[in-house]
Amino acid sequence: MGFLPVFLECAERPCLLVGGGPVAARKLAPLLEAGAQVTLVATRLSERLDPLLGRLSALHRREFQDSDIDGQWLVIAATGNRAVNQHIADLCAARAIPVNVADAGAQSSFTLPAVINRDPIRIAVSTEGTSPVLSRMLKSRLESYVPSAYGDLAALVGEFRVQASEVFAGQRERRRFWESVLEGPVAELVFAGRVDEAREALIAALAAGPEQKAPAGEVYLVGAGPGDPDLLTFRALRLMQQADVVIYDRLVSPPIMNLVRAGAERIYVGKKAASHAVPQGGINALLVQHAKAGKRVLRLKGGDPFIFGRGGEEIETLIDEGVSFQVVPGITAASGCASYSGIPLTHRDYSQACIFVTGHLKDGSVDLNWPMLANTNQTVVFYMGLQGIDVICRELIAHGRAATTPAALVQQGTTPSHRVLIGDLSSLPGLVAANDVHAPTLIIVGEVVSLHNKLQWFRPGQSLVGESVLSMSDYFDRDHPPQTDG
Ligand code: SAH
Repeated sequence: MGFLPVFLECAERPCLLVGGGPVAARKLAPLLEAGAQVTLVATRLSERLDPLLGRLSALHRREFQDSDIDGQWLVIAATGNRAVNQHIADLCAARAIPVNVADAGAQSSFTLPAVINRDPIRIAVSTEGTSPVLSRMLKSRLESYVPSAYGDLAALVGEFRVQASEVFAGQRERRRFWESVLEGPVAELVFAGRVDEAREALIAALAAGPEQKAPAGEVYLVGAGPGDPDLLTFRALRLMQQADVVIYDRLVSPPIMNLVRAGAERIYVGKKAASHAVPQGGINALLVQHAKAGKRVLRLKGGDPFIFGRGGEEIETLIDEGVSFQVVPGITAASGCASYSGIPLTHRDYSQACIFVTGHLKDGSVDLNWPMLANTNQTVVFYMGLQGIDVICRELIAHGRAATTPAALVQQGTTPSHRVLIGDLSSLPGLVAANDVHAPTLIIVGEVVSLHNKLQWFRPGQSLVGESVLSMSDYFDRDHPPQTDG
C-alpha cells in the first residue's frame, strides 16, 4: 500500500522533536524551514544542532516524558533508542498524532521525503523508507534537471494569477497564455536573472489581453523516431505536451501516443484495414484548417519527417497558406534499427558510404539506379522494401553485387518486438517467406551486416522500455495493420 503524498502547512504549529543527535538535526531543519514551533527534548545535543538552537520554541535537556506529546500537532522520534522511539510511536498512535520515527523498527505514520527546493516550488522524493540513499540519488538528479530560477518564475507567475484569470476568462485561452509566458520570452528573462524586465513583459502581455493576443495557430512537424519512446527528442516531447490536435499515422507507436497531452484531439490518418489512408492532399488540408482555427497542431510522424516522410510536401502547403510551423527531426528507422541491431551503417574496413533508398514497388517493379546501388564498400538501406524484396535482391545481384553479400531484415526495430533476420542477397527473399515477416521492416544490405553476430546487444525480452514486456500489438495497432509498403 502506498503513502499519500501531501504537503503540510506547519507554520505556527506546535511540533515535538525528541532526540539530539545528527539524525535529529537533519529532521529539525525542514521543520524550522516550514515555520513550525518546535520543542526539542534531548539529553545530549550534537554540535550539528548548534546553528538551529536559537530558532527553537522550547528546549528541554532531559529524558522524554509522556506528557511531552500533549498538545503537539506532529511528533518526530529520533532518540537513537529503539524502545523509546517505539514507546513514543505507540503514544502518538493512541492519540492519532502523526509521528515519524527515525529507525526502521518502529512504526512511522509519515516519512520525510528528500526535497528539491525551488521556493515556492518543492519536489519531494520518497521511497517510503525503503532506501534513503536512492531518494538522495534521485534528488541530486532532479537538482541538476530543474533550473534554480524555476522558483523565481513560479513566484512571478503567482503575483499575476488572479489578474490573468480576469483577463483570460476561457480555460483554453488562459492555458495558452500561461504556456506562452512559461515557455516564451518572459521565462527566458527570468532564467537570465532579469526578473524586473520579465515582470514588465508579463504586465504588457496582460494589458494586451485576449484580443491582441488572438492565438495564431501553428504546426509542429515532429519526428517520433522508430518506436522506442526513449528515442524522442526533448523538443518533440515538449511540443507533444502542448498540442491541441495531433494528426498521426500508423508508424507512431501507442507508447509514444501516450505521451501526447491527454486533452489533445487525436486524428488518425494512416491506412485502415478496410479502407485507404487519408490522401496526402487531405492531410495537408487538415493541417491548414486546424492551424487557421488557432490550434497548435502536432503532425507526428514515424522516424524523421524529412526521410521518406513527405515532410517537404506538408510544409510547402503551410508556406503557401501562410501558416507558421517548426520541424523537429527524429531518429530515422535506419539509425534506430541499425543501432539496436549492432549493425554500424559505416565502418572503416567495410563501408565508406551509406545510402537510404525507397524499395517501394510501382507496377511490380522498383525503379532505382541499380548500377550505383550495386557498388561495393557501401551500405544500402531499403525503406518500404518488403513487398519488393525479390526484385531488390535480384537486381543487386544482376548488377554485380555478390550474391553472398550479407543482408538483414529488421522488423519493428527498437520496440519490444524488435526482430532481426540475417542472410545474404540470395537467401533474403526466402527468409521473408519462411518467417512471416511483416511491416514495418527495414532491409540493410552490406558487409557491415556481418558484424551483427558480434555487436548485437539489444535483447527485447529484457526490455529497455520498462519492466513489463509489451506485445507487438501494443506497439503497432492491429486494427490498423500496415498494408502495402514493407
Ligand atoms: N520517416 C520514416 C520512414 C517512413 S517510410 C523514418 O524516417 O524512419 C516507412 C518505412 O520505414 C517502413 O516501410 C519501414 O521500411 C521503415 N520503418 C519505419 N519504422 C520502422 C521500424 N520501427 N522498424 C523497421 N522499419 C521501420
